[in-house]
Amino acid sequence: MSQSLKRLKVKLRIAVVQLNPRIGHVDQTLARINSIVSRIERYRPDIVVFPEFALSGYSFHSRSHIEPYLSQPTNGPAWDICQRISKRLSCITVMGYPEIVRESSQKAYNSAIVVNANGELVFNYRKAFLYYTEEEWGCSENPAGFQTFDLPFYQKACDSDGRLYDVSLKSAIGICMDLSPYKFQAPFYDFEFSSFHSEHSTELILFPMAWLHSISATRESKNPEQQKKEIAQSQQSLGFQSHGSQGEYQLDILLNDGTCIKESPSAVTCDLPDVQVKSAFSHPAEPDLTNVDYWILRFMPLLAYRQRKNWFSGGLLATVLKKFQEIRTTYMGASLEKPWSFEHKNTVAVMCNRCGVEDGTTVYAGSSSVFKFNGKYGNFEEELDSSNRSVEVLGSLGKGYEGVLLRDVEIEVLR
Ligand code: GLN
Repeated sequence: MSQSLKRLKVKLRIAVVQLNPRIGHVDQTLARINSIVSRIERYRPDIVVFPEFALSGYSFHSRSHIEPYLSQPTNGPAWDICQRISKRLSCITVMGYPEIVRESSQKAYNSAIVVNANGELVFNYRKAFLYYTEEEWGCSENPAGFQTFDLPFYQKACDSDGRLYDVSLKSAIGICMDLSPYKFQAPFYDFEFSSFHSEHSTELILFPMAWLHSISATRESKNPEQQKKEIAQSQQSLGFQSHGSQGEYQLDILLNDGTCIKESPSAVTCDLPDVQVKSAFSHPAEPDLTNVDYWILRFMPLLAYRQRKNWFSGGLLATVLKKFQEIRTTYMGASLEKPWSFEHKNTVAVMCNRCGVEDGTTVYAGSSSVFKFNGKYGNFEEELDSSNRSVEVLGSLGKGYEGVLLRDVEIEVLR
């Protein structure tokens, strides 16, 4: 006899810590983490998320450059600080770090650990889709590809009578480039990461990142020298060091009990001529909305989209899905069973990006955000950005300051 499922509300308090770590300055980064954590301790978050390579810094250029920072999941500074935070706040802590496998292979990965309130390792995830920088130091791809794991929460689910239950959420880590098309070569509309998690009904997605701002000089830049100059100028005009702002915290706390704290460093906002504004780095206390919209677009399978019902009746979908040889059951969120396979489901995505500048060339976009995909409005929405009502942007930090975003989120799950 099949037991009927209960609809439960899960309430979680999520802290997103935005940092500007510098290579070679691990102790200073740890000190700033401690000062940020002491500011949020009293709010007792259930989860605290840190960026990709949160302590080590990101732009390593060779294996010998990164070697001193490589560690095993339960050994090294990331493990130590996560254990300490988890036990002190009685929370889950997630942090990106450079991993080494100390066996014959000596393989290195871009990884993230998930540590529970008892200070135990719940999961170690390795980045599956690598960015150019990882090629420079010989990073390996996650052989397991994208993954999910169960994350238990004690007495966090509530039924319609107000009874409380323990609940395990189907969870996942994504690390930065995991959200992009594979090697920037796969078709944009394959949406590999978000299709995988829509098909697996993942409820909680935690995303440590070192996502670049568009002012960065990359491999694709036409005039890197000119761009370096612009980057230096932008930091200077804001009164920042060449590596960006550190230790001036932005606090953005909005909780269901009415707590509302919004503190931003008083930024020098320089008025740039219109032509420059598009690519320039300014207004460090404001999120980069173009970037936030881009992340949302990459979650397309979880977004409401009116046109899907036409694909469903058109018959073309079966042909498209054949291309994926049965490893995929959806395309852009549509399946053969249902026009929108995510409909009526809920997922929270926590985007934890870093900020600051490395090498004078790489500027990070900050703008760390919490999104809730609510599984509604499937017959109405057409815009695949933050104006789409199926995504609730619960908050975003600015692009250029360290700090913390703290939000209460509520999702519905069937158990
Ligand atoms: N797609 C990301 C970007 O362009 C990749 C960076 C990363 O993986 N750290 O910023």
